[in-house]
Amino acid sequence: MPEGDTVYQAAARIRRRFEGQVLRYSQFRVPRYALVDLTGRRVDAVRSIGKHLLIDVGDHAIHSHLKMEGAWMVHPLGTRWRRPGHQARIVLRTDGWEAVGFELGVCEWIPDPDTELSYLGPDLLDPAFDAAAAVTNLTRDPDRPIGTALLDQHLMAGVGNVYRCEACFLRGVRPARPVGEVDVPAMVDLCQRLLVANKDRTVRTTTGNTRRGQQSWVYGRGGRPCLRCRTPIERTFLGDDNSEDRVLYYCPRCQS
Ligand SMILES: [Zn+2]
Repeated sequence: MPEGDTVYQAAARIRRRFEGQVLRYSQFRVPRYALVDLTGRRVDAVRSIGKHLLIDVGDHAIHSHLKMEGAWMVHPLGTRWRRPGHQARIVLRTDGWEAVGFELGVCEWIPDPDTELSYLGPDLLDPAFDAAAAVTNLTRDPDRPIGTALLDQHLMAGVGNVYRCEACFLRGVRPARPVGEVDVPAMVDLCQRLLVANKDRTVRTTTGNTRRGQQSWVYGRGGRPCLRCRTPIERTFLGDDNSEDRVLYYCPRCQS
């Protein structure tokens, strides 16, 4: 599941080869932007804000969001793609490198990207992350379930489904617990530490163990024994949001 750390890493990979470089070829494989040609334009910056990735070119940016299945691949020019061509949404090339965005949930060419994304809450992976502002945002609605609030990118940017499940487990609270009954500063601090700890890792782990099947406490472990108390992990949904990318996991014994 792509979360803030995934996007941060994708931005770092693209930045390394593209920032400051002139594009020798570009192709949006999205009908609306099919005529946009960035050949000869310079990439000024590559950055992530929460789960959004921006490639700045002049006063516009290529804005992308990975959603469930998306990925950015960066490789030397001429390398065979690791995903089918029909999944590509954008292709960018410099003299020696190619970046391809596959199955991007959002892929657009937008003016004034900072205004466009100004609705996002503080970015957990921003070195200047404003924890106090995130706490203020999250506590504004004390009746809202913490599991829902943590995913709301308007309040705080970067937490996806994996981190919300894991953070709730590590704080011992059920995702359905109202925000007003949760130690929000501690929750925000934990979310930041989890994302920062994983921002440069190739394998995400919230347990400290990178072995397959041991990387998370509850996420993706429905029906299997809790790593702490052996109680079977519950798999559920909150409210009426039953989409697969919103499925929740928690331990009914460790979390209350
Ligand atoms: Zn447990």
